[in-house]
Parts: sequence; C-alpha cells; structure tokens
Amino acid sequence: MNILLVEDELRVADFIRRGLGAEGWSVDHAADGEDALEHAASNVYDVILLDLMLPGIQGQDVCRKLRARKSSTPILMLTALDSPEEKVEGLRMGADDYLPKPFDFDELIARVEALHRRATGYTADASETVITSGAVTFNRASLQVMVDGTEVELSKKERDLLLLLLTSKGRVLSRERILNTVWGLNEDPLTNVVDVYVGRLRRKIGAEGKRIVTLRNVGYRMN
Ligand code: CA
Repeated sequence: MNILLVEDELRVADFIRRGLGAEGWSVDHAADGEDALEHAASNVYDVILLDLMLPGIQGQDVCRKLRARKSSTPILMLTALDSPEEKVEGLRMGADDYLPKPFDFDELIARVEALHRRATGYTADASETVITSGAVTFNRASLQVMVDGTEVELSKKERDLLLLLLTSKGRVLSRERILNTVWGLNEDPLTNVVDVYVGRLRRKIGAEGKRIVTLRNVGYRMN
C-alpha cells in the first residue's frame, strides 16, 4: 500500500512513518499543504493521512482542492482538534474518516486498512464465523480449529495468532503488528516470542504450516 502522510511536525511524522513502514507499506511524507498537493498530483496513493493544522495551506483546504481535482483517494484526517464541528467540517470537505490525536497506533492501522478495503471493494473474512482456508477451518464461535477434519488443540495465543494470519491472508504481518494484536504490546520486548509461537503453530497444523512464510527481517505472511 502506498500512503501519503501530510504532517508538519517532523517528530510525529517520523513516528507514524516508521509504524506504517513496519506494516510493509510505503510512505511518502509531505511537510505542508503545498508539498502535499504536489505529491498527490504526481503519484498514486491508496490512502492519504492528512493533518489539519498545517503551515500555509490548511488541511481542510488541501482536502477540498484534492476533491476539486476529482481525486477519489481515501483521506483520513488526523488532528488534535476534537470538536464535533471540526469533525463535521472535515468530512464535509471530502475526508473519508477522522482520527483525533493522540491516537492508538493499532486504531490508525485498522482505519487505514478499512479505508483501503472500502476503496478497493475487498472484503476480509473478519466478520465470518467460520473461516476456511485450505485444509484449515477456524470456528470463531466455538474456537475450534480443524485441520483436514481433525481438531487441533491450540493455546489461546496460538489461536489468536492463527486467526490473525487467516484474516490477513496474502498480506505481510510485521512482528510489531503481531506483538501488538496478539500480545497487546506496543514495543518489541526484544525476545523472539513471535518466532517461537509461529514455529509452534506451524508444527501443530502440520502440512498447512508450510503456508506460513517467513520474510526475513520483515515478518510473516500466510499464503
Ligand atoms: Ca500540524
């Protein structure tokens, strides 16, 4: 996924860029509205993250100008201003979603993914009760996992990890993302806990385990 991040505070921009980069997404940074409009005119982005309070052209105007150019790229507004009026104004200017600062990084990622899904018409398995993929069946109601029709005993973390892999099939999951979603950790505890659990899960699901691919220094992907 290609993302344009429009943020004038370099510290904040750097933090967001690193986090999104860890998801395997590529991020261009624009430090003001002028720069943002230039980037958007010469590149194709899947999602634009737009800070409202910018030097020069304000975020709202950037949004309005993009829409006036018939750009349909999903725009997620990021702002410290959290009044209902600001939100309504942002949405009226053509933003698709709105996230007040400070935000939870997991929420930012979830919203970016949701915008991207909406724009591409891609629907994830996320709401299905029974997820079937290859010989693996995951029942979210009974929490039973079957491989080739035989039930497999998994610990809670192994199950959470499998569910994350299944619902993100074909996409790269960084170690940071897995730690965040399965363990609720926002920073790497500098252990190889993720690798250990992926190894266990692979063994437990037998031949299906080969579908969990290791991307060196990046993370994992379920094919
Ligand atoms: Ca700002």
